Amino acid sequence: MTDYVDSWYGHSIRVELEPTPRLEGAHRTDICVVGGGITGCSTALHLARRGYRVKLLESERIAWGASGRAGGHVLPGLGTGMDTIAKGLGRDAARAVWDMSLEGLQLVDDLVREYEIPCDLRWGYVHTAIRQRHMKMYREWVDQMATEYDYHDMELLDDHGVRERVRSDYYIGGIHEPRAGRLHPMNYTLGLARAAQSHGAELHEGSAVTRIEPGEPAKVYTEYGQVEADFVVLACNAYLDELDPALRSKIMPVGNYVIATEPLDEARVRESLPTDEAVSDANFVLDYYHLSGDRRLLYGGQVSYNGREPRNLRQRMEAKMTRIFPALAGVRVEYIWGGWVGITLNRAPHFGRVGTNVYFAHGYSGQGMAMSGMAGKLMSEAISGQAERFDLFARMPHRDFPGGRHLRTPLLVLATNFYRMRDLI
Ligand SMILES: Cc1cc2nc3c(=O)[nH]c(=O)nc-3n(C[C@H](O)[C@H](O)[C@H](O)COP(=O)(O)OP(=O)(O)OC[C@H]3O[C@@H](n4cnc5c(N)ncnc54)[C@H](O)[C@@H]3O)c2cc1C
Repeated sequence: MTDYVDSWYGHSIRVELEPTPRLEGAHRTDICVVGGGITGCSTALHLARRGYRVKLLESERIAWGASGRAGGHVLPGLGTGMDTIAKGLGRDAARAVWDMSLEGLQLVDDLVREYEIPCDLRWGYVHTAIRQRHMKMYREWVDQMATEYDYHDMELLDDHGVRERVRSDYYIGGIHEPRAGRLHPMNYTLGLARAAQSHGAELHEGSAVTRIEPGEPAKVYTEYGQVEADFVVLACNAYLDELDPALRSKIMPVGNYVIATEPLDEARVRESLPTDEAVSDANFVLDYYHLSGDRRLLYGGQVSYNGREPRNLRQRMEAKMTRIFPALAGVRVEYIWGGWVGITLNRAPHFGRVGTNVYFAHGYSGQGMAMSGMAGKLMSEAISGQAERFDLFARMPHRDFPGGRHLRTPLLVLATNFYRMRDLI
């Protein structure tokens, strides 16, 4: 079992779990969840509170994967535009998917309140524009969401409007979205896990699943134990690795990185984010940031498509931050970390079943904070016999990444280079 990556999150944990012993020996349960991120913990919570016996197996620690490393921005919608969903599923279904994404936001809010999860949840969001074409894109987006999705919670900002919220000369305008926000993702995930335990779910850390034998019941194996279960839920996202090679060909791990500064004094907060809202820009490889509960600037943005950490990562991240906020020059960066984002070819999440009783949900493509919790809720509904909403997502067509296991990375790098170049123009 590997300990948490050295992030600010790991140094600010405020949720304690009941013991989570390694799985040993043979067990029988109703549902076996594999993976202890938001998807897995939300699934375990929703099923346990419906009265099912649940065992969750996590190879490392709860929130060890993307859920404990993310920027923590909580947004409606998906990692792709709604047009992709409308193309794949039709307009009515796309509208239902959008509404479920809003339900995902409400779910975060409800769970944080109900289970008193100390995760610094705060609503209020600014999308910033760097170039005129971003403003054009934003105007079309606001208009489309209002007319086609009846969503009116996005207000266009001009250069003065954006500057009131983000004290940078870098932006020419933006969108204010009060319904989006941010949280401490590790405390949120641990809070869901603790809530699942309070309803009787049994969690096992240090319990990597090595093999799943299909059948009714299915058999799930770890090095030291075995679980027979009526249903299995795969919630491993970008960390799935070889557990299911057919599923793995549909998602691809992409590295993403975050830095945390030392806590900022009041003057520096006023000179950077006076309204204390979360921010991201409109670039293809986007920068995103917000103030933590203890007033650090958490700044994310660098990506790696080839599996290797970018060279001079710390310097590059610091340079990005001070380009936006020259007033932060000289502020110490205390933590830097990264993790795998699971992307799909069309950037829509990939939900479905293997056979009849192995469920999966992954591939949130960088926008999983709210949707992964919703996936857990939808899988619990489906396992309880109400599968319509889960099946709506499962109908979305997905293709394998071209090039197979070894060639897909260079092909993806080539495909994304065009967009990365365009960010510079
Ligand atoms: C740096 C970074 C920044 C991000 N920022 C944002 C953001 O601001 N907003 C947003 O919406 N999304 C963001 N994301 C994406 C978001 O974090 C994910 O979509 C979400 O956390 C996915 O949750 P999950 O539970 O599906 O996967 P994970 O949290 O990755 O959990 C999967 C778990 O499965 C476990 N596992 C894997 N294989 C096995 C096995 N064989 N046996 C047992 N356990 C196994 C892993 O150890 C891991 O803990 C970011 C991701 C990263 C990496």
